[in-house]
Amino acid sequence: MENGTQSEIVDLVIIGSGPAGYTAAIYAARAQLEPYLFEGFFSGPAGGQLMTTTDVENFPGFPEGVTGPELMTQFRKQAERFGTTMITEDVAEVDFSQRPFRIKSKKKELFARSVIIATGATAKKLEIPGAGEGEFWQRGVTACAVCDGAMPIFRDKDLYVVGGGDTAMEEAMFLTKYAKKVYIVHRRDELRASKIMADRALAHSKIEVLWDSVVSKVEGEATVTSLTIRNVKTGAEEQREAGGLFFAIGHQPNTGFLNGQIDAYDNGYLKVTPGSTATNIEGVFAAGDVQDHNYRQAVTAAGSGCMAALDAERWLAAHGAKEEVAH
Ligand code: NAP
Repeated sequence: MENGTQSEIVDLVIIGSGPAGYTAAIYAARAQLEPYLFEGFFSGPAGGQLMTTTDVENFPGFPEGVTGPELMTQFRKQAERFGTTMITEDVAEVDFSQRPFRIKSKKKELFARSVIIATGATAKKLEIPGAGEGEFWQRGVTACAVCDGAMPIFRDKDLYVVGGGDTAMEEAMFLTKYAKKVYIVHRRDELRASKIMADRALAHSKIEVLWDSVVSKVEGEATVTSLTIRNVKTGAEEQREAGGLFFAIGHQPNTGFLNGQIDAYDNGYLKVTPGSTATNIEGVFAAGDVQDHNYRQAVTAAGSGCMAALDAERWLAAHGAKEEVAH
């Protein structure tokens, strides 16, 4: 897995192992930059969010579909084939105030002339009795309708989407293709979503909003069969038949380890120069969901990973050879 000394200067370090990180590695390795990729460990499975999904039917090149884990295994193999060094650790801290940049994990310290941040985002979950790991999480409870909504367990059932933003509207609309009926459970009496998306969802014959409501309990057998909905104004609780529960309450970009060194928007997503992957620090690039709160798809993440590798390659070419960098 790891090679080299415990502390060395390298051209490129990629942090993160979803479609963006692996694609950046494929391009960078083919360009002979000999990238090092921190694929994470305690932060979540190497491969990112797709490792927790089942069938992926919208990734081009797989007409019969492919499972998320299988797809990411292929990405990883392709990155390795061209000479990426995988480090199965989380990055603990980075120092972008010095050049080469210092990247530190528990066991390894690298000095990198350029860095690609591709640590993705994590869908926010609610802690509700019955919805956790080992309960009905991934057995009817998920945080991604577009990833999981087409699964047979959700067909012709009453499905519930929690949230009042654009994601909730989009996911509810998506689920109407499979569901008997879709209920949007929103904690207030007014949606946060943009007018156009809210109007579209509210006009759909299969969608109904449960206002001022929260889900207080999830129950089932092999998979979810019922939810308890509580009205936050009256306190009244009602148990309702349900085939699935989808959290659509936003994502959190995984940027804690950056300690504020990269400019970000108020919602935490990293800022990049439009049309490129450049961050506010020259030589540091960002790709995938960590800088994209809008599209958040495997294919768009992969595309921006490619862009980041090309940006890094050009930046390195313009800034001299490895030996010229002062330590
Ligand atoms: P968001 O706009 O932050 O909305 C999150 C929703 O979840 C809010 O309605 C919020 O309720 C609710 N929520 C948050 N925490 C909750 C909790 N603990 N319990 C119950 N409800 C909770 O997030 P988003 O919908 O994911 O959208 C993020 C960004 O992506 C937005 O800028 C959006 O416009 C964009 N987006 C665009 C599209 C599109 O244009 N196609 C699609 C998806 C997303 P409150 O309203 O009460 O705070």
